[in-house]
Amino acid sequence: MKGEAVKPLKTAFILIVCLAVIGLSCGKNEKKQLEAKKLTVVTTLFPLYDFAKNIGGQYADVSLLLPPGVESHGFEPRPEDIVRINKADAFIYTGKHMEPWAEKILKSIDNRGLIVVDSGTGIKHIEEDGHDHKQGKVEQEMDPHIWLDFGNAQKMVDNMLEGFIKADAANADAYRKNAEQYKTMLSDLDNKFREGLASCSTKYFIHGGHYTFGYMARRYGLNYISAYRGFSPDSEPSAKRLAELVKKMKKHNAEYIFYEELVSPRVADTIAKETGAALLQLHAAHNITKEEWDSGVTFAGLMEQTLSNLKTGMKCK
Ligand SMILES: [Zn+2]
Repeated sequence: MKGEAVKPLKTAFILIVCLAVIGLSCGKNEKKQLEAKKLTVVTTLFPLYDFAKNIGGQYADVSLLLPPGVESHGFEPRPEDIVRINKADAFIYTGKHMEPWAEKILKSIDNRGLIVVDSGTGIKHIEEDGHDHKQGKVEQEMDPHIWLDFGNAQKMVDNMLEGFIKADAANADAYRKNAEQYKTMLSDLDNKFREGLASCSTKYFIHGGHYTFGYMARRYGLNYISAYRGFSPDSEPSAKRLAELVKKMKKHNAEYIFYEELVSPRVADTIAKETGAALLQLHAAHNITKEEWDSGVTFAGLMEQTLSNLKTGMKCK
């Protein structure tokens, strides 16, 4: 009797152990499958990384090509970056005006299934003025900082969403939902800027950096003056230009001079010393520092910080 009673117990125990083992291995397999199925997405600049990470959610493995702390306009991809793009399912860039190297690389890589997203598709770019287009001597330059207009940013999300769906139609509904949520956040951010910058003591903000905030200034009806005329921080402003800026600072009673991220604030510093103005950072989110990366900053967080500094600098209510 005793032996017979133990036997079913033993069988049940073995059965439970077996089920547990099968269950565990099943769980592992499912996890492995999910990981294997994850869409590999390579992005160039930080805003694109943040947008894509939010659209992709749990179904995508999104990475940022630019190493933290690297200035984006001077960036040239390294051989390992090309390998990374070659292995990816999707590659997202801002456009040929921001990453002139992208199209060259895309021609040379051997990844036929790669979905390429030019996130600036369909966005009207601000043209540089002052060039003599009639003479045809100078190729027209376009302002590449399109993400700093949050209407454009929403269009960029739409362009990316299209790429996500093309690359992984099975999860289209999830991508659509995530993109919609992110666009709502961008729209809220837009409203915060509009309200926050509506009643300021001045409409002028003076920046000791390259011409970055043209889109933002246009969207909120502000006047933006930058030390460098160009769209990238590759040239030094002349002594004459610095003198002009000092004059403008005095004319507009500016108490603050803004400086850019990841570039030495030397120009802003000089103007500050000349005018007694204080320095404030205006983060454009091209890329982030290692510390910012480690602390998990987001595009929205950086923009909130930019708004707060603009409000201080322009003495807004
Ligand atoms: Zn820039």
